[in-house]
Amino acid sequence: MSAPSGTQTHHDQHGRYPEAVTVDDFRRNLSAVQARIDAACHRAGRDPAAVRLLPVSKTKPEASLRMAHAAGCRMLGENKVQEAYRKWEAMQDLNDLHWSVIGHLQTNKAKLVARFASEFQSLDSLRVAEALDRRLQVEGRSLDVFVQVNTSGEASKYGLAPEDTPAFIQALPAFSALRVRGLMTLALFSSEAERVRQCFVLLRTLRDRLRQSAPVGIELDKLSMGMSGDFEIAIEEGATVVRVGQAIFGARALPDSHYWPSETPGERP
Ligand SMILES: *Cc1c(COP(=O)(O)O)cnc(C)c1O
Repeated sequence: MSAPSGTQTHHDQHGRYPEAVTVDDFRRNLSAVQARIDAACHRAGRDPAAVRLLPVSKTKPEASLRMAHAAGCRMLGENKVQEAYRKWEAMQDLNDLHWSVIGHLQTNKAKLVARFASEFQSLDSLRVAEALDRRLQVEGRSLDVFVQVNTSGEASKYGLAPEDTPAFIQALPAFSALRVRGLMTLALFSSEAERVRQCFVLLRTLRDRLRQSAPVGIELDKLSMGMSGDFEIAIEEGATVVRVGQAIFGARALPDSHYWPSETPGERP
């Protein structure tokens, strides 16, 4: 892919996105993000229809999620399982609204994910795969999953090391309720666009390599990478799903360290 390399990150805008408070705000933000997606696709010679925008609603109240739905969102991404589950329960009346869990999962919460999620993007251990599969079998459901890879090399980021990913993928056919769709990553959180880009390049080249030896039934077509600050670079490097929160919903009050713990991996209260 001959992607342009001048594209900058927008991480400096974090905290400055105004809160969306009306359905019109959501419509406007969604079309502004879509226009940026279209422009990035154009630069990279890609079809915008091949990039799915996943709006990320974490920390936002139910009223905001309902406005996003009214503005056309039919799938929302949430980082924390319990928060997602609570919102799903509260919005059962919106039966065309689907949920994607994009944050680290502990095995004891697999039961919740199996009950309500349509997609799980952060699979990074066989224990979680096993727990999810077992619970999904009980529920008579299946789940689209992405394997999360740590492409930044930061100890604070969840995900498999790139070198551990091939063996992990080979083990996944054992879990028949998991429909493996592709890989997911969080890039380095940096204003240095080239270092961010390297994370996305790593995920794409890993995927290209893995695809040649993927077991039957394991699809690796999808690449979930890019968020408000860096999705254009991700698209230039082949993203098929971008996870965008703040540019649609508005800045979050909680620091990102709440979602990407800096030391001990483990749920915070
Ligand atoms: C919050 C989050 C996003 C979206 O980040 P924004 O800065 O709000 O666009 C993307 N991916 C994951 C895993 C997240 O937790």
